[in-house]
Amino acid sequence: MVIEHFNVVIIGGGPGGYTAGIRAAMKGATVAVVEVDKLGGVCLNRGCIPSKTLIASADQYQKMKHADLFGIKLAVPPVYDWPAMRARKDKVVGMLVGGIGQLFKSHGVTHFNAHGRITGPNQVTAIDEDGNETKIKADNIIIATGSRSRNIPTFPVDGDRILNSTHLLEVDHLPKSLLIIGAGVIGCEWACMASMLDVEVTVVEMLEQVLPLEDADTGKLLERELKKMKVDVHTGTRVDSISPGEHGVRAKLSNGKEVEAHQVLVAVGRAYNTEDLGLEEVGVELKKDGSIKTGDDMRTNVKSVFAIGDVRGEILLAYTAVHDGSVAVDNALGGKVKKNYLGVPSVIFTHPEVASVGLTEKKAAENADLAIGRFPLRVLGKAHAENEIAGEIKVIADKKTDKLLGVHAVGVHATEIIHTAALAINRELTALQLGSLIFGHPVISEALMEAAHDVHGMSVHLAKKRK
Ligand code: NAD
Repeated sequence: MVIEHFNVVIIGGGPGGYTAGIRAAMKGATVAVVEVDKLGGVCLNRGCIPSKTLIASADQYQKMKHADLFGIKLAVPPVYDWPAMRARKDKVVGMLVGGIGQLFKSHGVTHFNAHGRITGPNQVTAIDEDGNETKIKADNIIIATGSRSRNIPTFPVDGDRILNSTHLLEVDHLPKSLLIIGAGVIGCEWACMASMLDVEVTVVEMLEQVLPLEDADTGKLLERELKKMKVDVHTGTRVDSISPGEHGVRAKLSNGKEVEAHQVLVAVGRAYNTEDLGLEEVGVELKKDGSIKTGDDMRTNVKSVFAIGDVRGEILLAYTAVHDGSVAVDNALGGKVKKNYLGVPSVIFTHPEVASVGLTEKKAAENADLAIGRFPLRVLGKAHAENEIAGEIKVIADKKTDKLLGVHAVGVHATEIIHTAALAINRELTALQLGSLIFGHPVISEALMEAAHDVHGMSVHLAKKRK
């Protein structure tokens, strides 16, 4: 039995875990990261990066299909090659995952390719695939084990007809038709991508709008765009049963309709990876939903054990996991830091893109009288230049103080534009201050400036409002 000692031992090498490892090493700590799979976690291997790489391919295909709109004639219609798209995705992922290994080497972070189990308040046991155990003494332990796709027991994912998003990334060919259960982030991103790749898509969402966590206007706008893409959308609807069908499956919906599809994607949220970590043995407290309970300093009820990212169950995003990791490392190394989630943007890679920061109109209205500004992209020169005129930006401010409460963007480049609004909300600026910044021209971000002016009825590019 080998025994090693590190100041910080991190279980899980996803975006939360690997960045925490590098940060701790930069601050002079000795660090080990125990990761059973490839470095990079869901984000790099099965989530953000592969999906965005394929979305970029789908986008390119659509652009070529509509090349005539840009004054370009193609000699033959474009044809996409799914295996080649997947190979490109694998290349991008491989390069980025390899990059983490290089960073670990350069910063002196030790990587155990093994399953990590907490076997004492200051001890992690790394068990490799051959069953060899290494006992690692740890001054501090950070749990960064993330989450996985949640299953619906009534129609279990079988990897053949009923898939999760990981399966779908790896299929040999895309199905002719796809039923998506859940119109959250994954459901809507896949609905757009599959539809752009000529798949017939049906989406079923049990709540009343697509992207239920986003502003109601965002849900309406995106649903309209999905319908324009010929995606069949059923909101306020459940899938009652799935049985074998003519092409693959037949689903009965709670609205009385039946859907035939070649395959099903289940995208109904995530389950926390807390099993077989030794949490019970060392007494780490869980919340009712099975996620790990921590304070704002990321510390669990066991002083030497921290938890970060999805497994905490607060916000399930790669980039908040990175923030959590930085807070945990600072505190593990003697600091007194708390998380600051003010102005965390949401970025969703649908077509058009969706992004937001701060409160929805419904939530903001609970505590303030609101002043709301809007600016549709179809008024912008740059939107016409790019032939991407769908969407709008909505700015919500407190009527009394003018303080920005929320910004909601639907449209091309929304996921980039939102960061200007995120900074404004993080720094607690007013709508007047946001609008008074000189924006470049012509850019899609001008819609943000104009919507901020519209909060006071002062957008010069909107027609006079009737009283
Ligand atoms: P989600 O929570 O975003 O959406 C799940 C949806 O399924 C919800 O709208 C829910 O109402 C619906 N649902 C649940 N049970 C249902 C049922 N029986 N029938 C019909 N609808 C049902 O979860 P997700 O889309 O699976 O994504 C998982 C996680 O990954 C999220 O936490 C998300 O933040 C993250 N993610 C983020 C991005 C991004 O930031 N761009 C992209 C992909 C995934």
